[in-house]
Amino acid sequence: MKNKFNIGVDIGGTNIKYGMVSSSGRILACGIIPSCKTSGKKGVLRNLRKGIDSLLVSAKQSKFKINSIGIGVPGTVDLPKGRIIGIPPNLPFMADFSLRKYLRRFYPYPIYVDNDANVMALAEYKFGAAKGYKNCICITLGTGIGSGVILEGKLFRGSSFVGPEFGHTSIYFSGIRCHCGNYGCVEMYASEPAMLKRAKELLKKNRGSILYQLSQGDLNRLKAKDLFLAEKLKDKVSQKVIQETACYLGTALSSAVNLINPEIVVVGGGVALSAGVNFFKMIEKEIKTRAFPSATKNLKIVKAKLGNDAGFIGASILGEELDTQ
Ligand SMILES: [Zn+2]
Repeated sequence: MKNKFNIGVDIGGTNIKYGMVSSSGRILACGIIPSCKTSGKKGVLRNLRKGIDSLLVSAKQSKFKINSIGIGVPGTVDLPKGRIIGIPPNLPFMADFSLRKYLRRFYPYPIYVDNDANVMALAEYKFGAAKGYKNCICITLGTGIGSGVILEGKLFRGSSFVGPEFGHTSIYFSGIRCHCGNYGCVEMYASEPAMLKRAKELLKKNRGSILYQLSQGDLNRLKAKDLFLAEKLKDKVSQKVIQETACYLGTALSSAVNLINPEIVVVGGGVALSAGVNFFKMIEKEIKTRAFPSATKNLKIVKAKLGNDAGFIGASILGEELDTQ
C-alpha cells in the first residue's frame, strides 16, 4: 500500500472541502472552494470537479497512486448506488441525483458517496476523538444537526440509509414544527440559526449586551462564535442562550445514550468548534441528570478533534471501510 492515497471531498451548503489523504489519515494536499450554489447543480458540480482535478494534478506531480474517491454530501444517500435520496435541505437542486454515476463519466476510480455526518463520524472514529472506542455517537452542530453512529466498530446506517437522524429527536411533544414534518425536533432548538434567533429575541430587552458591538450594528451578522466569545466576557444573553442550548442537546442526547449506550459522544461542527470547555460540561451534566446512571458512569462527552477536515478525511476512507465489511 506504499504511496497509495485516496481523495476525499466534503460538499457543504457553503463550501466544498477536499483533500488527498493516506490510509493512515495523513493529509497530503487539501483545498476549499465555494459550493457556488447560486449557480445550482451545475455550479456545485463544476467546483466539485475543479477540486478533484486539482488533487489529481498534485497526485500526478508527486507520483502518488490514487485508490478511490469518496464524497460526503448533506443528505440521505443510497450507499450502493451512490445516489442522493430525497431533497437535501441545503442543496435542494441535488435531489435524487446519482452523484456516483455522474462522476464515473470523468474519473476512472471507484467512487463512494455517503452522508456528510456519517463520514465525519468515520474520521473521528478512525483518527480523531473517538479513536479506540467501539460504540460512539458523533453529532455535528451547524446550520442543522447531523449525526453518525459507530456500533461495535462499524458505521451504522440503518435499513434504508436514514439512520441516525439525531437532529430530529423530538424534545417537545408539541414544540416548534420542523421542516421534516415532526414537532419539537432538537434541530429547531440547538442549531446555529435557532441559537441566534433566541439571542435576537433576548437582545430586545438587553440593550447593553456586548453582542450589539460584536454585530457591528447588524444583528443578522451574528454567529454562534460571537455568542461563545461574549459568554467568556460574562454577557448575560449569551450565557442564557448557550446554557439553554446545552440543556436541549443534553436532553436529546440522554435518549440517544439510553438507546445506544455508547462509550463516547463526540460533538463537532462549526458551533462546537468555537465552544469553550464549559459547553461540553453543561451537556454532560444534563445527560447525566436524565440518562440511566449505568449508561453514563463512564460516558465521555468530548469536542471533535479533526475540525473542518473531518468530512473529507472520512470520505477518503469510505472505500476502505466498505471493503472491510
Ligand atoms: Zn425534524
